[in-house]
Amino acid sequence: MERSLSIIKPDGVSRGLIGEVIRRLEKNNIKIAAMKMIYMTKAQAQGFYDVHKERPFFASLTDFMSSGPVVAMVLEGENVIPKYRELMGATNYKEAAPGTIRADFATDIEKNIVHGSDSPQTAAFEIGYFFNSFEVIS
Ligand code: UDP
Ligand code: MG
Repeated sequence: MERSLSIIKPDGVSRGLIGEVIRRLEKNNIKIAAMKMIYMTKAQAQGFYDVHKERPFFASLTDFMSSGPVVAMVLEGENVIPKYRELMGATNYKEAAPGTIRADFATDIEKNIVHGSDSPQTAAFEIGYFFNSFEVIS
């Protein structure tokens, strides 16, 4: 059993894609173990993406992630980390497989609708960043 942190990014929320992303999770039998809406400050977005702080896109990415509300979810299930990343598609929507969330909706390498953890270690950090243990249903 594995957990992943999913975020519907500000572009996904503002474009009315919350339902569409959740529909795809449910259609693929991915269990949602926690969910909340958050409007991050710039500092909170910087903390979340600390792993990318040396990257050239860090300033713009953290501006974007603090530009509007996001929906954070904990997903749970067998191999849910790779399973959800497959539904998301590649970081660059131009390289994302047809039918993935990013191929269908992203408009930019930055504004790519969704976040998903990339390993059990990053998932543990990312889930703890947004949720306490009482908020995650198992
Ligand atoms: N990003 C960007 N430019 C890049 C690479 C990434 O703006 O060249 C943004 C994009 O929003 C991406 C996020 O930074 O989702 C985190 O990057 P990562 O490489 O972790 O991609 P992900 O795990 O989200 O696919
Ligand atoms: Mg990543």
